[in-house]
Order: sequence, then C-alpha cells, then structure tokens
Amino acid sequence: MIIILKQGVTAEEKNNIKKTLKEKGFIVKEIIGKEDTVLGAVGTVQVDPRSIEILDGVSSVVPISKPYKLASRELKKEDTIVSVRNVKIGGSRIAVIAGPCAVESEDQIMRIAEKVREAGAVILRGGAFKPRTSPYSFQGLGEEGLKYLRKAGDAFDMPVTTEIVSPKDVELMKGYIDMFQIGARNMQNFELLKEVGKTGMPVLLKRGLSATIEEWLMAAEYLMASGTDQVVLCERGIRTFEKATRNTLDCSAIPVVQKLTHLPVIGDPSHATGIRDMVSPMALALIAGGASGVMVEVHDHPEKALSDGPQSLYPEQFERLMRDIEALAPVVGKAVEKTPRRIPEAMKEDYKAEEGSRSSDTVAFQGERGAFSELVIRRTFNEDQTVLPCKEFKDVFDAVAKGKAKYGVIPIENTIGGTIYENLDLLNVEGNITVVGEAQLRVIHNLIVNPGVKMEDIKRVYSHPQGLAQCREFLSENLPDAAQIPFYDTSGAVKYIKENRMMDAAAIAGDAAAAHYGLEILKPSIETNPKNYTRFYVISRSENAEFFRSAGKINRASMTFSTPDKPGSLFVVLDILQKHGLNMKKLESRPILGKPWEYSFFVETELEDRHDLDSIIPLLKENTVTFRILGTYTAAH
Ligand code: PEP
Ligand code: MN
Repeated sequence: MIIILKQGVTAEEKNNIKKTLKEKGFIVKEIIGKEDTVLGAVGTVQVDPRSIEILDGVSSVVPISKPYKLASRELKKEDTIVSVRNVKIGGSRIAVIAGPCAVESEDQIMRIAEKVREAGAVILRGGAFKPRTSPYSFQGLGEEGLKYLRKAGDAFDMPVTTEIVSPKDVELMKGYIDMFQIGARNMQNFELLKEVGKTGMPVLLKRGLSATIEEWLMAAEYLMASGTDQVVLCERGIRTFEKATRNTLDCSAIPVVQKLTHLPVIGDPSHATGIRDMVSPMALALIAGGASGVMVEVHDHPEKALSDGPQSLYPEQFERLMRDIEALAPVVGKAVEKTPRRIPEAMKEDYKAEEGSRSSDTVAFQGERGAFSELVIRRTFNEDQTVLPCKEFKDVFDAVAKGKAKYGVIPIENTIGGTIYENLDLLNVEGNITVVGEAQLRVIHNLIVNPGVKMEDIKRVYSHPQGLAQCREFLSENLPDAAQIPFYDTSGAVKYIKENRMMDAAAIAGDAAAAHYGLEILKPSIETNPKNYTRFYVISRSENAEFFRSAGKINRASMTFSTPDKPGSLFVVLDILQKHGLNMKKLESRPILGKPWEYSFFVETELEDRHDLDSIIPLLKENTVTFRILGTYTAAH
C-alpha cells in the first residue's frame, strides 16, 4: 500500500509511522516526490488500512492494485534513474552498453573495450559465466574472465556488467563488477534474484524468453523486495512462432513497461535478432520507441568469436550506430549519456574532487523553472542539477562571471527563428567567459491547461511570441477565436495560468514546464514544423573550462574578430581558415557598440584537432584588429 504523508509531516511522526509499519512486518520504502512524500509498505502481512490512516502525519492510504508494488508507477510517479558508478540510466538519457558476448581473453576484452569506448559506449559488457543451450559449448572463463573484464573497465574508465548464473557467485562477483546482469534464462530463478537483490547493487534484468511483461515486472519486484532499487529492465526478444530471427523483438514492450513502472527500460537488439545486419536498425527502433538505451554485442573478429559471433557488430558498424543514435537522440527529446575522456594519472585526484562537486555546482539559465534551457541542463549535466533561473540573458553571463554559477546555458540559434544575437553580443563583451560545450534540443510545444480545462473552455492562449508563432497552424485550426497573448517566457506563461487558476486559458510551453507546475498537457506537440531545434552553448569562466571539455573530442571552435577597414580584409581571414582546412559552419556580422557602421564577425569552424587552431592563431591575430577565441568544444551534432 501507499501511505501518503501530510505536507509538513515532522521527522518524528515519519519515523513513528515507519516503525509501526516495520513492526507489523512490512518492508518500507520512502519516496520523496515533487508534490508529496510517500511511504511504500509491502509484505505478506494483511492490515486494515484504517489502522495506518489514523497515525499522526498520514494523509491517506491507497492500496496498490498491481501485483508488483515497489516496481509500480502507482507507488513512484517519477522515473527512477539508475546510477552505475558515474553512468546514469533513465530519464532523458540514452545509455549505450557494449562489448563482446563473452570475455575470451585479456587481449580480446582490452581491444574491444578500447574500440567501444572510443565510439561512445558508457558501460562495458562481457560474459564470464555463460548459460549455454548446449553443455558442450564454451561456458565462459569464470573468475579469470571477471578479472580481465575489470581490468578493461579500469583501463578505459567504464563501469562493467556481466551475467550471474548462480547465487553462490554473488560474493565473488561483487568485488569485480559494477552491475549484475540476470539473463533471460534466469529471469525467474527466484533464489538468484533474492541473493543479487540483497547486494543493493544495480541489476540489469533481461526479459525471459517467454515471459509476459507482468512476470518480468514481478522478477524486478523480487530484486527490489530483497534490497536494491537500482534495476534496469532489458527487452531482448521473446520466443514466437517466427523463425526468421533468433527471437522476436517486442518493441511495443518499451512504452507498455514505461506506463507500468518507474524503472528504466533498455533493449538488446543483438539477442533479439541474432543477425548482425538487423542489430543497428532495431537498436534505432528501440531508441525511437523510447528506450533509455541499448545493449549491443561487438566483436573485432566475430568469425572467431566463441559465442554469438553472427550477431556481433564489427567495431566500425558500432561506431556508425553510435553516430545514428546521436542524431536520433534530440528527435526523441533525449541526450546520449557520455563518460568523460580518460583523465591523465596526474590529474586524477583533482578530477575526483571535481566530479564530487559537479552536481552541487549551479548552472544558470534564462527563464522560469521548467524552461527549455532548464531541460537542456538536466540532459547535459544531471537530472538533479542545482539551477539558477535568471530574468535576462545578461544575468546568466553575470552569474557565471561573478561565480554565482559555475556554468550557464544560453540559446544561440533556432532552426526557425534564427540566431539569438543578444547572446552573441554578450559573448563578445564578457572577456572572462568562454564556450565549453554545445547542446541541441528539439523544441516541442504543448497546449497546457489547469486540470479539468477542455478545448471548448479556452478563450485565451499565453506564450512567448515565438511559441505562439510556431504553433500558428494548430491555433488557427483548433482555437480560431481564442485571444493569443504574448508573454515574456513560455514556462512563465504556465506559471501564470496556474497561479491565477485560470479555467478559461491555456499556455504553450515544453513538457518540463507542465511537469514542473503540475499542469496537464491537453494537446502534445502542436508546433507547425516538427524540425524545430535550438542550439545552446554551455559557458563558463576560463578556469573551469577544462573539466567540462573532457567529455568528448574537441571538434568545434567559435571565434570573434574585427578586421581593418580595407578591401578584402574579411576575405584574408577566411582564406587563412580555408588554407588550414578549417571548415566554416557559421558566419555572422554584428555592429560594434559605440563605433557606428563598424562590424565584428562571429565564426564557428570545424576542428580536426585543437592544435590546428593554436598554430594559426598568431596569423589570424596579425590580420585582424581584435581577435578572440570564444571557446573550443564538442559539437552537439
Ligand atoms: C547475453 O547477454 O550474453 C545473454 C546471454 O543474453 P540473454 O540472457 O538475453 O540471452
Ligand atoms: Mn550473447
């Protein structure tokens, strides 16, 4: 049952409720949500809910209708985000797990780990205990395999996961791995689930070969009832009458499961299809269907693999798949989870301190809570990142420059609205601010109302002028008579209709704004043009730049300069870029403040290597009046 606590419940009352429940024989879990704090009480005992309802601090008691309780969305509305060391699975992230089916030798796992890490996988997989259909097939290297897997994970800074097949191996494996994998054949091995659950460690739970979704969630319940709340579900194909593929990938299980449970769900297209050429398209299908990631088998010599060679991707195929996933991510409103680049030994201590403080650092953005920029922060940093909402773009720059925030996130350009010049100008002015990262967001507008408001009730629609303009077709077709009222901010409009309890109005904003203010999305995705993307910069003071940049390969540079007032002076600069093979991606000119009819230029270029740029800076400086690199970073697309 779910015990909803009163707002303002005291710590003493809460402890007393927990104690009473435990004495009655319940397992108790506390869940702190956005609106309420609830206690989940599960167990074999039966009590009259009224005996709990009368306790001080209890608001109400609701039974959970599903047979799985701790795993159920009824108990916990918000998505669970599972942490496997510093890798997050769930929410608006896409995590890619890759590696060979089995660890075959130290050399093999090291080679493949390096390849998948380079391409962008965040967790390394590799079986050490293989549950094979035939007793005469390769059974895995056992503890020796665990050692090699750990070594490869450490060498390439990746958490590792491997399958456990026997409860007696829990203690041994705990010391080597970061996430247990329960294989399809063991999904209902309840003794194994109980022992693994007791460790409290993250678990990847595969769906059984012929398990229903409910049976699968009951298996997750076993893990959770035994002591872990870090469970990732993995759809890996089920057995049907179809013989063309190894199993039948049940893509529709993804949205079904997401409705029923708060746990993240990923997919395994390798075991689902059993055929290499089908792995990448099905991986993309899983991501498009809403999966929080994929687990893919990769082998550099699949023809010699000791297991599952025919379904293992070549490293080049995996690299291509990663690029496709990167391109698909913003379409489904997600960001690909990344691990920082390898940190040199000498920097490791500093890095640890930095990682520890990262989530407690503040990131500034312009707008009200729930704004699109806040969504970008949650994806680029952490879901629980501390944020600083600012009134104006200038305030974001100020907050970063003065150290009130370590980073800022600012929009630079929208595919429909064009460049946001104010931010280019601010970058030009603020000398100590540098661009350290880039992010991309697909802008999805929704019609948001107070609960209970219907289409026919709506007389006014509030949003930022861009929001109203971008939904013109929907508004003229569906709400031709409603007044369109421009507002300073999309999420501010949501806040406004909520605070004034307006039952005859709607706001247009992103889903984060609806979620933040607890309002209802009456019509999702009402923007006229679905190819509506905004590109953001992550800015920081120069001294904080390096750590953020360590997240990926630096392949983009932004710079600003002014040129002498003579023929061809811009051409000379562009010629230098061209001669050094720097492909220009964007060029803007802006008036220089206080110098009428003089302009500065803003340029973005591709970068093969950061040193390419260093070597031509003196040349660029010689041929310009003012010149500054605004930042080098990893492009978001
Ligand atoms: C595996 O991941 O290597 C594996 C054996 O998968 P499944 O349990 O899904 O068959
Ligand atoms: Mn396999």
